[in-house]
Amino acid sequence: MTEQELRRAWHEIVATARRTTAEGLVVGTSGNVSARVGDVVLVTPSGVPYDRLGPEDAVGVDLDGRQVLGELVPTSELPMHLAVYRSTDAAAVVHTHAVHATAVSTLVEELPLIHYMAAALGGPVRVADYALYGSEELARHLLTALEGRSGCLLRNHGTLTHGTTLDQAYDRTAQLEWMCRLWLTASAVPGRTPSLLSRAQLDEVSAKLRGYGQRCP
Ligand code: 13P
Ligand code: ZN
Repeated sequence: MTEQELRRAWHEIVATARRTTAEGLVVGTSGNVSARVGDVVLVTPSGVPYDRLGPEDAVGVDLDGRQVLGELVPTSELPMHLAVYRSTDAAAVVHTHAVHATAVSTLVEELPLIHYMAAALGGPVRVADYALYGSEELARHLLTALEGRSGCLLRNHGTLTHGTTLDQAYDRTAQLEWMCRLWLTASAVPGRTPSLLSRAQLDEVSAKLRGYGQRCP
């Protein structure tokens, strides 16, 4: 990792972490953000308000969790972030306590197929079993819920998504929170039950989404 790569990646991490508070996905120092650059994982420090983070505050660990950069203590959720990097090709991870997503995590085992954007997360979004924050047990539950998905809910805790860029990981969190809000809104109408999509309908969307957006130049 060159000095320039490191500076750019850290700048993006801080910007993404600030977005989570600015856009209401977390309150205070809740949540955490990381990005992998080669064999180094840059992570937000534990319990430091994101608006106080500067270029000199970069924190980096290796894939075994040994600190290789910075003085500040890394996020307490290091086990979850490292578990994702060890078992997927992810280059970025975003964890939040987004309110609608966290509410849904207390109600169901899986977010009902209320909208086709579930396909953008790899399929129906599961809820990882509860375990103490920062524990290896929580990281194990997370991996089970993430199987074949790029995001999941953490029971009575929040969300975790990953992607090949920080923007992609962040966008997946925002879409997940939006879908949870949608399901809560539709489910709250008295005397009515929301219609849901079938797996076949979702599979059809997954295929179509592969060609979504602009053609590559
Ligand atoms: P950190 O401040 O240690 O990153 O913890 C926040 C959090 O969301 C724990 O689950
Ligand atoms: Zn958390």
